[in-house]
Amino acid sequence: MTQSAALPFGTHDFVLRGGRVLDPETGLDAVADVGVTAGMISAVSREPLRALRTVDVRGLVVAPGFIDMHSHSHDVAGHRLQALDGVTTALDLEAGLSPVEEGYRQAAAEGRPLNYGFSASWCQARMTAVGGLPHGGGIAVALAQLGHPAWQLEGDGRQLDALLELLRQDLAAGALGIGIVVGYAPRITPEEYLAVSRLAASTGRPTYTHARQLIEVEKDTPIDGAQEIARAAAETGVHAHYCHVPSTSLRHTDRVMRLMEDVCAEGGRVSTEAYPYGAGMTAIGASFLAPEKLGSANIEPSDIVYAPTGERPADAARLLELRAADPGGLAIVHFLDENDPNDRAFVDRALLHPGSVIGSDAMPLTWMNGTADPMAWPLPPNVVTHPRTAGTFSKVLRRYVRELGALTLMDAVARSSFAPARLLQDSVPVMRRKGRVQAGCDADLIVFDPDTVSDQATYEQSTRPSIGYAHVLVGGVPVVQDGVLCLDALPGTAVRA
Ligand SMILES: [Zn+2]
Repeated sequence: MTQSAALPFGTHDFVLRGGRVLDPETGLDAVADVGVTAGMISAVSREPLRALRTVDVRGLVVAPGFIDMHSHSHDVAGHRLQALDGVTTALDLEAGLSPVEEGYRQAAAEGRPLNYGFSASWCQARMTAVGGLPHGGGIAVALAQLGHPAWQLEGDGRQLDALLELLRQDLAAGALGIGIVVGYAPRITPEEYLAVSRLAASTGRPTYTHARQLIEVEKDTPIDGAQEIARAAAETGVHAHYCHVPSTSLRHTDRVMRLMEDVCAEGGRVSTEAYPYGAGMTAIGASFLAPEKLGSANIEPSDIVYAPTGERPADAARLLELRAADPGGLAIVHFLDENDPNDRAFVDRALLHPGSVIGSDAMPLTWMNGTADPMAWPLPPNVVTHPRTAGTFSKVLRRYVRELGALTLMDAVARSSFAPARLLQDSVPVMRRKGRVQAGCDADLIVFDPDTVSDQATYEQSTRPSIGYAHVLVGGVPVVQDGVLCLDALPGTAVRA
């Protein structure tokens, strides 16, 4: 701790005075002072702490900032929306980036409100190694090319060697594991998935999978998407993280969760994740949104909302037009009906499973008829997204803690902060200092009102920020102060393996 010699010993830079402090690792749930010095938590004490500055947080909860393992919001605007949802670390692990260094370099050069990090992108590496497409370009290019058939083809031996080599380079650069969106190239061989898993296992880092289609949905799938993850964990020893289980499992979610329980019972390492919404969002050109594929997921073209205009394609012909004209355009896909209690229950059971963490799947923002301006705030009305981008973590606190009483406040906080830190810390040492309110840990802290904290974003008003957060600190620096976003705060630092 840096301390000025002129100050009495034990004086902190500032103290959060008298809040209800929650620390999921130790179970601490008590009124205490939290001292912060030089970006770290310098003390947690039931006795009053002395500090240069005091922030009165009596009546509010002080908790570790949320660690989002699934955020495709890479820019300042997206980070700001997530900051107002209690997030202090936003990691893109499912899609990731390749070359990963490109993403770290851009974020460092521009500055970010939140801590950031990326896995190695199997998809982007494959776009180059198998598809012959240019390497890199970030998530915008990856989305634009997501539906391109060239990268989804079966690769020959030489191409797969090149693919693994690109991933190896990304891992050497500090990528947080390998993101495998195999559900977007569902005809690849199961052997390739195993080889990629083996590579991740050899570095002790996880895979993060958007699963391949389930056997119930696609009878001729090369392998059931859940079985594939289970098998990789068992055969390679990899820690396989199963992204947004309900969004790819839909009405088969219970079967998938049971299978993952079996894998864990047999010593395999799998973890599961969910977000609290029934709709998905992805590029409209995605292979599984081809008109002939919709029936197996029990949806129609009109269940898809093309974000740039809000249009619901009336029929297959119109959907085909949109896919051809703007394959990377984002679309909300109403897979499960949130007004149907049976459908809602699939999401609830997966999210409430003791082994699940909360991951938002926050999306890049769509700027309707206009160019993106990620520094604009408040966001203009022509910016749209999936409500999960702005509201996931606060929706969990509102719905599952306050309205349903299905989670304790401590459990909800744990699934959003400490549990992700614990999943990652074996391969990402900095995670041992996150997700905790303990002396010596990073001062990534949130202060919120448990009685009013709430999401505000809906499918109609998708970028309304969540409410209830008095302070959001990233490395001790306020990103939100007294409920107001700090527009010049860019304290986010890189999280690397
Ligand atoms: Zn996904």
